[in-house]
Amino acid sequence: MDNLSTTNSPKGHVLRLHKVVKRYGSFQVLNEVSLDIDEGEVVAVIGPSGSGKSTLVRCIHQLETIEGGSIYLNGELLGYRQDGAHLRALGPRELARQRQQLGMVFQQFGLFPHMTVEENVMEGPVQVLGDSTADARTRARHLLGRVGLAEKVTAYPQMLSGGQQQRVAIARALAMRPKVMLFDEPTSALDPELVGEVLSVVSDLAKAGKTMVIVTHEIAFAREVATRVVFMEGGRILEQGDARETLSNPRTDRLRSFLSRVM
Ligand code: ADP
Ligand code: MG
Repeated sequence: MDNLSTTNSPKGHVLRLHKVVKRYGSFQVLNEVSLDIDEGEVVAVIGPSGSGKSTLVRCIHQLETIEGGSIYLNGELLGYRQDGAHLRALGPRELARQRQQLGMVFQQFGLFPHMTVEENVMEGPVQVLGDSTADARTRARHLLGRVGLAEKVTAYPQMLSGGQQQRVAIARALAMRPKVMLFDEPTSALDPELVGEVLSVVSDLAKAGKTMVIVTHEIAFAREVATRVVFMEGGRILEQGDARETLSNPRTDRLRSFLSRVM
């Protein structure tokens, strides 16, 4: 892992990506991606299919190992520890401790079908954080109330609509008290009429100051809710900036043409 590099991570950046490189075989999916995210920022990641958006959030969540660069969460190097002049990959326990600080919501909700809604939300806090069942239940109910599902706590996932299931998945991620929430196209598996209820929950989290990285096709949502937009193409960040400004007045032809195709 000679290409992995460390850098100073000044306090203030919750998440810092420094020249992150990801390859599948000889194919370079992420090409020295650097990105600094501050507390409370809501970063929308947009770009054509295959541009590396999912890979980016999967690398942040340590679902993928990186071949170059480094990722820091609150100043702590993710996935590796410094050992003299070398970087050594973390073992499973250390990796799990780091990963639980990142909440991830996927396109597919991935709820446990044999558990009720509230059991789904309680599972991580009880099994991983060691919370008592009573505390976990209280918190699960609070979170389910927050995503508008107070009435569904004892229902099973298959009794719910896709939009409701995705809101459970968001509550389940929040139950782990993550420092950053990562979303990978959370509404693209939903029927159009269910998209709004999920985006509205994400929007509430943004207003509450949650630090988030959201891969999304929903440009109007990004303009409204994100503080920053990042446009990816070919494994690179081609343009980024204030969400409203960047989406209204793109500086690159690439982004202008992408927006004209998707809006
Ligand atoms: P996006 O989410 O922007 O559509 P992805 O991050 O899913 O893009 O994929 C970026 C590129 O990496 C694509 O060309 C895709 O085919 C390739 N890719 C993604 N995952 C793998 C994998 N596990 N093995 C090989 N290639 C992959
Ligand atoms: Mg994707």
